[in-house]
Amino acid sequence: MNINAIQSVLIYRQSAFQNILPAKSVLKHNFVLQSQPSCDTVSFKRAPSQYGSPFVHDPRELELHCACCNKKMIPNSKVQKFMDKTVYFPAYIALDRIKHEQNFRLKEQPVYMQRAYSFIKNEANKHKNLNMDELMQTERVINYRHNNPKDQSKALTELRDRCRNVTHSIDYLVTEIEKLNPNFQSTENTVFQDLKMYAKIYPTESISNILTSPEIREEYLIKLQNKQNSKLNKINYLIPQLSPQYAKRANRALAQSFKIFNNESSDILHKRQRVIDLFEKALEPMPFEKPTDRAVADLIMKRLESLPDSKNDANAFIVKFGPRGSNNLVEVLVKRLRNTKEHVKPQHREGDNGISDKKNYIYLCGKCNHERKTQRYDEFIEKHPQMPENTQKQINEICDYINNGVLEGYDTWPNDIKEPLGDESEGLIIIDTGRLNLEQAKQNRALKLQQYVENKKHTAQEQDTLMTGPYRRHGKRKNAVNVAK
Ligand SMILES: [Zn+2]
Repeated sequence: MNINAIQSVLIYRQSAFQNILPAKSVLKHNFVLQSQPSCDTVSFKRAPSQYGSPFVHDPRELELHCACCNKKMIPNSKVQKFMDKTVYFPAYIALDRIKHEQNFRLKEQPVYMQRAYSFIKNEANKHKNLNMDELMQTERVINYRHNNPKDQSKALTELRDRCRNVTHSIDYLVTEIEKLNPNFQSTENTVFQDLKMYAKIYPTESISNILTSPEIREEYLIKLQNKQNSKLNKINYLIPQLSPQYAKRANRALAQSFKIFNNESSDILHKRQRVIDLFEKALEPMPFEKPTDRAVADLIMKRLESLPDSKNDANAFIVKFGPRGSNNLVEVLVKRLRNTKEHVKPQHREGDNGISDKKNYIYLCGKCNHERKTQRYDEFIEKHPQMPENTQKQINEICDYINNGVLEGYDTWPNDIKEPLGDESEGLIIIDTGRLNLEQAKQNRALKLQQYVENKKHTAQEQDTLMTGPYRRHGKRKNAVNVAK
């Protein structure tokens, strides 16, 4: 989980979103909006810029297929750029829009907020290409937060969270996502199809307003509850197979679970995990009375794993992310397609830390990367039996990029990664690097470099020709002054 995800943020009343529903809309909006940064992605650092080189130096910037699910991934920086420039508004606009969209009345705010607002608005006007998150990373804003009282700094965080919720219409966002040509996994695809449907009915509305309108939300909640209940009912049949002592405990957990899913408010989070925890505790070894108890207990736990969650179920996804703001929902959706580096030997496995080095990386989509966490590959492959084959496909893809002179600095990588993959998977992933052709790579790189240098020369010459216009005179005059000095 990244730091952003830990910051639980601002909750404010939705009275702000008036006057933006289309006439035919039946949506009523009296819900609580939570602004929370996307919290189902691993902390994926941005890939470095490739500027000033004819080569790619990081496979996250290539069009690759996920080594686990084989879905086409979107280059890392392309996703970031999409979020920064297409989804989020520039700060100078967002700071205006919170006033009427979120009922943010500056005059009624405490002095520290007024000061913070006027400072950040001024900065935003100076940097009209930056959104609020980018602006917060500029030196002046960092210094401001450092040198002013705490509440002024906190006010900036609140303004950032408010700006994150300023959103485009569903129609715009769906169209822009479509332009990325996304190759979604099935859960995300179902969510996206639903969004497309709503975009036709309520094109000017925001995603969040649609998904949190009482009628629509209710529909998703009921469907989700039905799925949850049907999973629990299946466990009901298994319980009598346990010895009485366990059965009693399991029955108590089951009754509690039904209550959690059906009686608690839909705003309460982590219901699924709480249910799993309840059963885990109930079925703890006591020790077992009958030898079959462990097997039945394992089966129950396995059934519980298939309870719908926001990763395996579109309904659960919408219930979870709908209230968190349109931009957040789009971010989660798109970041699941992002090309991310995956530590073959995990970075944070207790007593067994993998290194942060390309010799320990393969490339997974955001979703698979998040799902794997620190599991051993042999366990992970049980759930994703196609992974060995898809890893080989990725090795082939990267070998081709090396051979074609596109990727530089990875000549030894295919052979370096062989051993970690074999080790981590207990021999299930044995890759073949026969496709690598370093002689060809060398030739293609030389060719590419030559073309690049020629292009540069050509551009320089073109600029030189341009300089015969008024610019040239300027240049000459400047030189003349310099000489005179
Ligand atoms: Zn994947």
